[in-house]
Amino acid sequence: MQGKLNVQTENIFPVIKKFLYSDHEIFLRELISNAVDATQKLKTLSTRGDFKGELGDLTIDVKIDSKKKTLTVSDRGIGMTADEVEKYINQIAFSGVTDFMEKYKDSHEPLIGHFGLGFYSAFMVSDKVEIFTKSWKEEPAQHWSCEGNPEFSMEEIVGAYSSVRPESDRGTDIVLHIADDCKEFLEEGTILQLLKKYCRFMPVAIRFGEESVWVDSETDCDKDGKPKRVEKKQPRIINDPEPAWKKSPSSLTDEDYKKFYHELFPMNFEEPLFQIHLNVDYPFNLTGILYFPKVRKTIDPNRNKIQLYCNQVFVTDQVEGVVPDYLMLLHGVLDSPDIPLNVSRSYLQSDGNVKKISQHISKKVADKLEEMAKNSDECGVRSDESKDASANSSPITHHSSLEEKWDDIKIFVQYGMLTDEKFCERAMKFYLLKGVDGSYYTLDSYREKIKALQTDKDKTVCYLYANNAEEEHAYIEKAKAKGYDVLLMDSPLESHFINLLEQKIEKSRFVRVDSDTVEKLIPHDDSIPEKLSKEEKEKLQPIIEGEIDKQKFTVLLESLEESDAPMQVTQSEFMRRYREMAQTSGGGMGFYGDLPESYNLVVNINHPLIGRVLNETDAEKQKDLVHQLTDLALLANGLLKGEALSKFLKRSVEMI
Ligand code: ADP
Repeated sequence: MQGKLNVQTENIFPVIKKFLYSDHEIFLRELISNAVDATQKLKTLSTRGDFKGELGDLTIDVKIDSKKKTLTVSDRGIGMTADEVEKYINQIAFSGVTDFMEKYKDSHEPLIGHFGLGFYSAFMVSDKVEIFTKSWKEEPAQHWSCEGNPEFSMEEIVGAYSSVRPESDRGTDIVLHIADDCKEFLEEGTILQLLKKYCRFMPVAIRFGEESVWVDSETDCDKDGKPKRVEKKQPRIINDPEPAWKKSPSSLTDEDYKKFYHELFPMNFEEPLFQIHLNVDYPFNLTGILYFPKVRKTIDPNRNKIQLYCNQVFVTDQVEGVVPDYLMLLHGVLDSPDIPLNVSRSYLQSDGNVKKISQHISKKVADKLEEMAKNSDECGVRSDESKDASANSSPITHHSSLEEKWDDIKIFVQYGMLTDEKFCERAMKFYLLKGVDGSYYTLDSYREKIKALQTDKDKTVCYLYANNAEEEHAYIEKAKAKGYDVLLMDSPLESHFINLLEQKIEKSRFVRVDSDTVEKLIPHDDSIPEKLSKEEKEKLQPIIEGEIDKQKFTVLLESLEESDAPMQVTQSEFMRRYREMAQTSGGGMGFYGDLPESYNLVVNINHPLIGRVLNETDAEKQKDLVHQLTDLALLANGLLKGEALSKFLKRSVEMI
């Protein structure tokens, strides 16, 4: 029989080729998906009792014939009758492809998975495509052939069915005659790579080429009588038809999860910290495993560590829009037939199912962290509340307490709180603050701890923190001596995060330990009597200002304890924090980012040495004394460097 495909345009095939040129490798995924579907359908018919024959070996074969320049995909699924080829291939499949091309033409951005192109994507790489098929029903086998134009031929096969299988065997061979400009698809390496990318977890075994294994020899022995190890070739199965995410969480151990992680990411040598196994079937279908990697100092710019599957068929590892931004820091797999795949990314973000799925994942992540926060109190006890299989945690729970992992996931939680309102609400309950001494507190318990000593005269609770325990050591010690507690807040997101906490926690203020003198960090009502008169202060101010860089330093005369340092350098919390925020958010807050670094030089007017500066009559000696005192203050902050430092050392020796 000869026929003409039902097409509006004569030359749709060149269009298929051109349009999808960059992605034409997906043809293999489409063809093997069809083979998998045909096989699964046959299994269903068999369990229902409709198909009574032997299923036999259902492995799908992929073969290259470099002489004939063909690539063949063979399955032993349901096959097609003549009527079915006419209906599914000539009519339906073709209208599918026309629809698809219509959609694709209007889209200026890439479509998600290019699903919907189906069987005809074979023409992206072929001059000619042949189908040899025999239905499971008692009907003759068919041979269909098309050379990339709207004409096709179809005839009954008499005698030998095809070169690849015995006569009367059910199933389908799709034979692609690879075009000259697509020769790479006749190379074993290329095909293997594509199979590994798209078909690694498809649910029916796929065989391609051979692989070597090392086995004991049956005939040869070594000197000690042990059998020699010999290389043996065996057919290579390229996929794992039962990936961990499809299994029941209760059947998997922590080791199984780790093993699967390394199967997914063979190039990641670090162990994941813990994982969440997702398993939902209503109101949408979603399975998957998300692993928490260590997120230490930076937010990983390499965000393609979540693979999206549709019924075990790889779709993409670009999941922007499917999961909230902060969750892209996680690694793993998501599998859902309910994510629309032949749409553009911007459409995807407004899709109702996608929104629900993304909210669900956020919620599960919060559940997991909350559960871990609870478990940290009751070592080794598995929370009974996690009846839900999807909240499965490792059975060795004392390894998964939140405190233990906190340093490695803190940035992740902060990023989530900063970008996802709902997650933030949840996380306020389990977020952990860390003291400079290494102990952890929830936000509530910390407030209780510091409230008595660290509430200022306006009833605001002042949270003292250091960004760097080494550099701010002197200030930390001073604050501790006053009985204050100091937090270590050292992530790159900290300035933004502190702003968020100040908004979320009423009557709270965060101050870095070096942003003021220890007395003023938390202002109380009691002030210290001043030793200098107004006139003396007016005389002192220009003496000191005359010796420093006024662009960089503001001189503040303050009444401090006599035992405090004569001079100290501090940096306004507000200015410093906004400068940092501007620098890490890029744009928008430009004004603050452009500010020069500025400091306060706090002069303790009650210190005897300041009295000496004021009363010194020798102008040279007065200058030296001011320099010496400012240099000491700078030195304490690590701000005295280069030539200034050398001068200081020289002057010190002279003064001794
Ligand atoms: P889709 O798979 O999205 O339905 P396709 O264009 O890929 O679209 O295929 C169209 C139809 O052709 C399938 O729905 C199926 O009925 C039939 N078909 C394709 N490949 C096979 C195969 N290997 N075995 C049996 N039927 C097939």
